[in-house]
Amino acid sequence: DLVRTPAAVAEAERWTAHNYHPLPVVISSAEGAWVTDIDGKRYLDCLAGYSALNFGHRHPALIAAAHAQLDRLTLTSRAFVHDQFATFCRELASLCGKDLVLPMNTGAEAVETAVKVARKWGYKVKGVPHDKATIIVAEGNFHGRTTTIVSFSTDPDARADFGPYTPGFKVVPYGDLAALAEAVDETTVAVLLEPIQGEQGVIVPPEGYLPGVRALCSANDVLLVADEIQSGLGRTGQTFACDHEGVVPDMYVLGKALGGGIVPVSAVAADQDVLGVLRPGEHGSTFGGNPLACAVATEVVGLLKTGDFQRRSAELGARLHAELGALVGHGLLAVRGRGLWAGIDIDPALMTGREACERLAARGVLAKDTHGSTIRLAPPLVVEPAELDWAVEQLAAIL
Ligand code: PLP
Repeated sequence: DLVRTPAAVAEAERWTAHNYHPLPVVISSAEGAWVTDIDGKRYLDCLAGYSALNFGHRHPALIAAAHAQLDRLTLTSRAFVHDQFATFCRELASLCGKDLVLPMNTGAEAVETAVKVARKWGYKVKGVPHDKATIIVAEGNFHGRTTTIVSFSTDPDARADFGPYTPGFKVVPYGDLAALAEAVDETTVAVLLEPIQGEQGVIVPPEGYLPGVRALCSANDVLLVADEIQSGLGRTGQTFACDHEGVVPDMYVLGKALGGGIVPVSAVAADQDVLGVLRPGEHGSTFGGNPLACAVATEVVGLLKTGDFQRRSAELGARLHAELGALVGHGLLAVRGRGLWAGIDIDPALMTGREACERLAARGVLAKDTHGSTIRLAPPLVVEPAELDWAVEQLAAIL
């Protein structure tokens, strides 16, 4: 039935580097939790742009904010101030409970920003000897694709052949507080963690781990940097995944859903004693904090301030996890996650994660495999309960 799709997939393959292996679905329009392909087939989007579409495709309030801004002003560069900038920074800072915000564009840029700020803070505030700063990260991390970030990845696909690597990082097992305590020394400026590891398969650390990391960082004058790019902004049923354990990091790293699925917007948020170390000329981005990005992201923060999306994610997430839990032992080996975010391990004896995603797509459900037989389900937070039930029925059917 997919008449136009094969040729369109082949054409896309012909003209691009093969750094992705997309499912053979060519999307041409979308609304809410649903997308439509060029052959007119509809799919429930259970990936949601790796959580960049937490509010669904083309949320009316976000589209309206974008349209209004497109008609007035789109770009100034940071050489000047524009009239959307202060509002966005104030609103995001207040959502994060922090003094200051530094806007960038992509997630990787925000992580790079956090690395630079932590290092400079280490030299200027903590007093670490010059060029000796270390940042501790976790095995199985995913923080982006730049040369520095892949330097501390433990995924051979992400890392091999891209050296020489940036020094200054120490890798410890995720969820292991003792190993982290062992790794901290007087050169440690930051611990950089995902509070839930997304790309690794939605790995939730043991209870007490994040509060333990917080205490360890505070006791050793080390910044806790939470990469909430995928876990944050409502995905787990709270504004931040750290909130589940009452943990407040020194720096939030945000991206993905911050742009409302419309524009790339990322940011770091921290207090004056941390972000205040930067001086003019030391960091920046032509597009970071542009008027269109700020207008959309201000509206995103407005949506989050209602708490409705977090509540929805918590309630529907409980439903999703109950339904998925019933499939464990019936084709699923394990289910992990929080809120509307689940990592599910398919029994590899049945099929690979890729095969599972192809079969789900044939049935009108879009999801993406991550490592081996693991699939991540992260539908837009606007998904309806009946749609969620239907998606799990499709999963049960392919199993
Ligand atoms: N950090 C985390 C936790 C992510 O999940 C991602 C993207 O998947 C990134 C950073 C990188 O974001 P971007 O692809 O926008 O550079």
